[in-house]
Amino acid sequence: MTEEQKNQLESGIRDVVDFPKPGIIFKDITPLLANGELFRLTTEMFIESLEGQVPDKVIGIDARGFIFGAAIADRLGVGFIPVRKKGKLPWDTTGVAYSLEYGEAHVEIHRDAVSPGEKVFLIDDLLATGGTAGAAIKLVKELGGEILVMSFLIELAFLEGRKNLDSDVRTHSLLTY
Ligand code: AMP
Repeated sequence: MTEEQKNQLESGIRDVVDFPKPGIIFKDITPLLANGELFRLTTEMFIESLEGQVPDKVIGIDARGFIFGAAIADRLGVGFIPVRKKGKLPWDTTGVAYSLEYGEAHVEIHRDAVSPGEKVFLIDDLLATGGTAGAAIKLVKELGGEILVMSFLIELAFLEGRKNLDSDVRTHSLLTY
């Protein structure tokens, strides 16, 4: 990915101060999504992070991971799997709870979503503390999926979220702050 491409992607991300609560600088990706050229570039850069590997499935995390994950799955011609917040998936699920800065969160996946040995491409928009991504990795591993790479559009490196991710999973971020 070139510096120019990074600058292009950055131009579509807006910092919103004190959202959703004081002290948080929220990375708003809606300008990027609203721009067809930038959205396409983002999808292409996500696909580049596969380094030529071909996944069986793309998995996106609730909710912004769905937007990129679905577009990527479509471009690769493979299926899309959602990892969702608790209580949203209707079939037989497996879930994992994890801690947030304040309180707890819980994500789930359908038990039949990934078959043992399937190669998956895991997507989310942003890596902050790593709680969400770590939980998704746990779920995929529990079902026997092989994670080719977990990719993020944005990594907030100062939060050191990578420390909470399994070291044997390759991770990639298009933009690091
Ligand atoms: P975490 O579990 O702490 O790594 O948080 C990751 C999830 O929270 C991602 O799915 C993001 O969508 C969201 N998130 C956390 N911090 C921010 C932020 N500063 N701006 C936008 N989204 C965020």
